[in-house]
Parts: sequence; C-alpha cells; structure tokens
Amino acid sequence: MSQPPSPTLSSSTSNTSTSSPPQAEIIQLRSRHFASVPLSLSRFQRRWFLTFPRTFGLPDPDSQRIACALNTPDYSAPDTHARNHFWLNPSCRSQRYIPSDTTTEYSALSPIHLLLDSEPPVARLTGRIRCQRSNDPHDEGKQIACYEVEVITPDDGLLRQCYYCLSWEARGSSNTRFCPSGSNDIYWCSSCEEVGWVNSTIRKLRLQDILSWSSVTIDEYPKDNLYTPHRLMPTS
Ligand SMILES: [Zn+2]
Ligand SMILES: [Zn+2]
Repeated sequence: MSQPPSPTLSSSTSNTSTSSPPQAEIIQLRSRHFASVPLSLSRFQRRWFLTFPRTFGLPDPDSQRIACALNTPDYSAPDTHARNHFWLNPSCRSQRYIPSDTTTEYSALSPIHLLLDSEPPVARLTGRIRCQRSNDPHDEGKQIACYEVEVITPDDGLLRQCYYCLSWEARGSSNTRFCPSGSNDIYWCSSCEEVGWVNSTIRKLRLQDILSWSSVTIDEYPKDNLYTPHRLMPTS
C-alpha cells in the first residue's frame, strides 16, 4: 500500500539534496488578439521596460534587448507601491532604441495592449489617470494622459540584466537566472558573481570605456542598458 513519495512532489518540502532550487520562469507577454513576438518586462528601481526575452539569433544579443521604456519614474510614490506600479507614458515609445532596419517590425507594438491582453495576465489598470510631460521631442513638453498600471507578475518573472557585464538572461540556450547583487535591484550573471564584486566593477569600468569609444563608429550600437537607459536615447 505505501508508495515511495514522488521526488517531484517532495521537492517543495525541506530536503537537503544538493540540486539547485527550482528556477522561476521569465514571464512572456503575448497578446491574445494579434500575433506578435513575445516580450518580457524588466525593471530597474522605478523604471519599467518592455524587453525581448529571446535573442532572435542576433550576432550581439546584448545590443538590442530593450523594446521600449514604459514610464517616467515617479519618485513621489512610496517604495512598496513603486515596486509594482508605474504610470504608463505613451510617449516613451519614442525613446525606443532599435537599429534602423528592424524598426518596422515593431512599429505596431502597442505597450498597453500587450500589458493588458497577455495570457496569463501580467498587469491591470488601477483606473487612476494623471497628466505627465510628453517625452516626444515633437510634443514640445506638452502634457499627456498617463494610466497607472499595476504589475501582477511576481518580481522573479521579470527579465534581468547583469549590472557589471551588461549580459542578459535567456541568452542562447541558457536559462540560468541571475541573482541579486546587493539589495538595490542590481543583478549579476554567474560569471561576474564568480569573479566577485571588485573584479566585476573593474570589468564594468573598462566596458564603459570601450562603449564610449565604439559609439562613435557607425556600425556598432551601444549595448542596451537597463541601469543607465539615457545612454540609449537619441540626442536629437
Ligand atoms: Zn486586444
Ligand atoms: Zn555579468
């Protein structure tokens, strides 16, 4: 009568096996109403982004993972509220960094549609509306309506980037999740974690030097960076 416990069922109870803990999955946004490439959500502190959870065979998968910014950070909100709420600013779409030849494919991208139509649901409107300054240079600073969005995806469903080497999760066939480095919404990949904080910081400073040089050349794009997104914005 007595059956041995199934190993898959017993994994949630406290056991001392050496296998690594189960990894949370990156949530993919996909509209129920039209075919589109799957997107993911990313956040650094109070800034939210739509990101590409897959690399689509790009030669440099780290150069194009941010589809668009979603909000202008609101520093007046309490920390706990800002963890899963933001004011969706439609003009943020114009800040999108996408190399010229692929822009058309995503020009129909509607962030609010993707956020609200995805199955399983990832976000909902709270019903609050406020006016914010438009980020579109053509609007010359006029006020536009922004909708407050509550993200109902848990934190570990967000796509993460390594703060030090700027690599992204879900690169190639790897599905290893990045771990927090400290408590400030900063994450690091396993290779940066391995060499430690000091060496990773030195590596990051070198990388920034290289990036500032390479941005002068036409053929190379700066790597998408959640942590300093202003580096991606066009200066026009
Ligand atoms: Zn729809
Ligand atoms: Zn790294």
